[in-house]
Amino acid sequence: MDELPVAVVGAGPVGLAAAAHLVERGLTPLVLEAGPRAGHAVAQWNHVRLFSSWSELVDPAAGRLLEPTGWQQPAAQEYPTGAQWAQQYLVPLAEALGDRVRFGTRVVGVARRGRDRVVDAGRESEPLTVHVETEHGEERITARAVIDASGTFGEPNPLGGDGLPAVGERAAADRIVYRVPDLADPLVRQRYAGKRIAIAGAGHSALTALVALAGLAEEHPGTQILWLLRRGATGAVFGGGDADQLPARGALGQRAKAAAEAGPVQVVTGFRTAEVEAGADGVVLVSQDGHKLELVDEVVVLTGFRPDLSWLSEVRLDLDPVLQAPRTLAPLIDPNVHSCGTVYPHGARELTQPEPNVYLVGMKSYGRAPTFLAMTGYEQVRSVVAAIAGDHESAARVELTLPDTGVCGGAGVFDEPEQVVGGGCCGPVGPVAVSIGEAR
Ligand SMILES: Cc1cc2nc3c(=O)[nH]c(=O)nc-3n(C[C@H](O)[C@H](O)[C@H](O)COP(=O)(O)OP(=O)(O)OC[C@H]3O[C@@H](n4cnc5c(N)ncnc54)[C@H](O)[C@@H]3O)c2cc1C
Repeated sequence: MDELPVAVVGAGPVGLAAAAHLVERGLTPLVLEAGPRAGHAVAQWNHVRLFSSWSELVDPAAGRLLEPTGWQQPAAQEYPTGAQWAQQYLVPLAEALGDRVRFGTRVVGVARRGRDRVVDAGRESEPLTVHVETEHGEERITARAVIDASGTFGEPNPLGGDGLPAVGERAAADRIVYRVPDLADPLVRQRYAGKRIAIAGAGHSALTALVALAGLAEEHPGTQILWLLRRGATGAVFGGGDADQLPARGALGQRAKAAAEAGPVQVVTGFRTAEVEAGADGVVLVSQDGHKLELVDEVVVLTGFRPDLSWLSEVRLDLDPVLQAPRTLAPLIDPNVHSCGTVYPHGARELTQPEPNVYLVGMKSYGRAPTFLAMTGYEQVRSVVAAIAGDHESAARVELTLPDTGVCGGAGVFDEPEQVVGGGCCGPVGPVAVSIGEAR
């Protein structure tokens, strides 16, 4: 087994960080990436500026791997866009890892060698088989462990309020997008300028889109925005403001609040879409209780993401039935009970699965829960790789302080009025240095 590589699914920030930790421990990573380059998912939100600064976006082991290559660490306190994160960090990191990263390689299955999930014998002793598809066809890769860092970006939630596509949602696909529109692109700008636009969602992506489209409305006065929230009130949607320990995240909330209060934006709360009625001039959204909105030209759906678990059907996973996140991690991140968006650092202990040597990490480990931070994923893979290497003392150690959002109490996932308490379940918000540079 020791001779076999550790297969890492996804060359995103967390998968590449896992590979750097594996190299540092003398293990062999093999990163399998479906897209054509590092940060393929990040590249799809190229234009969005992160609310994390560079000091929170470079994994410590990755930094050490890059150092001898002449890589210039970007200024710690600057905030990159998705494109800059990919170009200035993820692409050089993948280059430093060389042929330990394979692009155009989609993982379509993971199994214990020669055994489906029902067979008990050999689960501790046999390696794993990773099924991949490339442009040259199918391939099987034998691995000692699998770290699934494939994210959730490929599986956006639908508009339908019950988690399934609304009636007519698929048929109206030409008027619906599931990504933050890139208004720097003239064609995209043209698509939205002067139009009636519905934005659905309450997370950071929705706030980003709201701010961008409200800015467009200032330049193109005919532009009108309906902002649809499933929850009963805006309340904690705008985050902790000055109390957020990530200042840029707090500021995004405040900019969104200002945008929502501006003329061209109308906020619709308690709206759970059941139907999309398409006509020649646009679409009308109908709620579960039969309420119809005015006609809109475009719909921007930013209602979160969900994990693709289909290719993990033959390994034994213990996932929370609500969030589809590892069961031990789920109570820490469940928006129904824990709205702080604040999670204590965690690693192998919370991420270990019944299937030996299979781990879900990164954005995917959060299942359907929001507010994942890359720095959370970096600490996860530091710990998980230590566990794979047999260093259980290091695997159990906590080496990171995660920032509070500054908003606690009240889930806001259904219609109940929200309770926003300073401190609340996370304790008083105090100044905490946010740094991930201290690991190991
Ligand atoms: C608009 C937006 C803004 C964000 N801003 C921040 C921020 O400011 N700070 C922050 O910390 N986080 C932010 N996030 C969260 C965030 O996406 C991450 O922290 C980070 O990208 C998660 O990294 P990851 O490696 O887990 O997943 P991803 O970045 O999603 O990478 C997963 C990779 O796996 C690949 N893949 C998927 N399926 C397969 C398969 N079957 N086979 C092979 N490869 C596969 C994908 O192509 C992708 O390259 C933001 C997210 C969004 C959407």
